[in-house]
Order: sequence, then structure tokens, then C-alpha cells
Amino acid sequence: MILIKEAKRLEDHLSAVRQKGQTIGFVPTMGALHQGHLSLISQCKTASGYTVSSIFVNPTQFNDPGDFEKYPVTIEQDILLLERSGCDVLFLPDIKEIYPNQPNKPVSFDLGYLDAILEGYYRPGHFQGVCQVVSRLLGIIQPDMLFMGQKDYQQCMVVKKLIEITHSKTDLVVCNTSRELSGLAMSSRNMRLSSIEKEKALAIYHTLQWLKTNIKAGPVKKLIEAGKEQISKAGFEKIDYIAIARADNLQLIAEWDGQTPIIALVAAFLNGVRLIDNLVLKK
Ligand code: AMP
Repeated sequence: MILIKEAKRLEDHLSAVRQKGQTIGFVPTMGALHQGHLSLISQCKTASGYTVSSIFVNPTQFNDPGDFEKYPVTIEQDILLLERSGCDVLFLPDIKEIYPNQPNKPVSFDLGYLDAILEGYYRPGHFQGVCQVVSRLLGIIQPDMLFMGQKDYQQCMVVKKLIEITHSKTDLVVCNTSRELSGLAMSSRNMRLSSIEKEKALAIYHTLQWLKTNIKAGPVKKLIEAGKEQISKAGFEKIDYIAIARADNLQLIAEWDGQTPIIALVAAFLNGVRLIDNLVLKK
């Protein structure tokens, strides 16, 4: 695996790869890698001739500076894992490579409704920061395919919209959520949980499954309230949201017709660690 830190060097390197006719797949990450990230690399390798990954903890997408400071960094281990996974290039830029001018310059991507609900509502500015870094990375790498995880369902929809509004030629591939054997969604933030807390954290997945089993046509309010109670009882100190939404556009629903594909999404805090997960309730 080649490690490249400068944007210009990566651009030159990839233009040579492109000239050889190889398709380029890209997996952006913030590091602290786990099997979820590696499953993206593996799907990228299967689908494309050349696999690029990046590690950059993007400050502009953290609405909470404390969360940014506490974000786990395990760079040596990450490099080893990527090397073993068969990744071809790791892009490891510093902030000046990503934001050569002004990192704090306000950006405005028109994400419409997606920026106002759920993660957009509870983390103001988060998706603007995501779009800022993803558009910069796509500009440098110009991948044929971009691999992202369903674990961040709303982020996938935001990036799909970004690709549309910027007329990018990159295809987005959404990969399934990797889970621990217990069902807990893998996340870099899980590193901040003790083993007892990881057991408590399972309440999110269990509640999502419970919603899937119990959803039926009609109003969804009572079901959501019961779900909130399950998560609170498990020891979560704060729930940002439990929501049921149309799977195709994330429009929140109050009543289900029994037919429309829907997804349940959760964000909640356990001992100061904010966890998110989602589950398709009806395909
Ligand atoms: P992050 O490093 O958390 O920004 O994640 C980088 C990419 O990995 C994003 O596309 C995430 O959606 C994806 N990802 C994170 N956790 C998982 C998981 N458990 N399963 C699949 N993809 C994941």
C-alpha cells in the first residue's frame, strides 16, 4: 500500500492509474478503523480495479468541539489494517491539504429537507461539513465509485444529493451495516464504551428489531414512545430521536399505510457517547 499525504501527489498518482484504464473506488473514513470500514474496503476491491481510502478527522463536521477532541485516533493500527485489507493507496492529509485556504469559511450546500431533520436538526452544520470534506475529496480523487455505510443512512442520502447538485460522475454504493455478533452496530465511538456499556448499548438494536416486529399500518406515535422507553430503561441518559421515515427520501411519517418502504432511525447518548443506528422495517 502506498501512503500519500499531499493532494497534488495523489492527483498525479491517480491520473497515471486512470491512464492505465483502471476504475478507481474510494472509501473515505475518519480512522479508528473496525470491521465495518474493512467491509467497505473489501466491497470496493471487488467492484473496482484500484482502491483508495482516506483517513481525515474532519473538524468542520463536528458541531460539538468536545466530540472532536475525544474522537479516537489509532493511526498505526489503521495503517496495518488497511495494508492487510489490500487497499492500494491510503490518503492521509493534514488539514492544510484539505482546506488550503480557510477551513472555517462558511459553505452552503442546498440539501433542503435533509439538512433540517434528524442528524441535520440535532447536529447543526454537520452535513455542511460532511459535504465540504466529501466534495474536496471527490475533487482530488475523482473516483468512479464511492463506498459508504448504511450505518450513516442520512449521510448516504446527503452525499447522494451532493453528487447530484455538483454533477459529479461518481456512483455511490451504499454498503450494509456491519454488526458485532451481539447485533451492536460497529462504530469507532464504541471504543469509548466499557464492556458493560456495550451491553447496555445493545438496547438500540433490540429496540429497532422490536419496532420491525411490531410495526403495523396506522399511527406510529405509540410505538415510538414505547421504543424510547426501552432505550431510556437500558440506561441511555438522552435520546435525540427515534423516528420512522420513508426509506426513499427520509420524510418522517406519523402514520404508515402498511406498504411504503420505511426505516427506523435512532440517536441516543450513553455515558456521553452519542450512538446512532437504523434498520429497514419494510423494504
Ligand atoms: P467514519 O470513519 O465513521 O466516518 O465512517 C467511514 C465510513 O464507514 C462511512 O461511510 C460509514 O458509514 C462507514 N461505516 C461506519 N461504521 C460502519 C458499519 N458498522 N458498517 C458499515 N459501514 C460503516
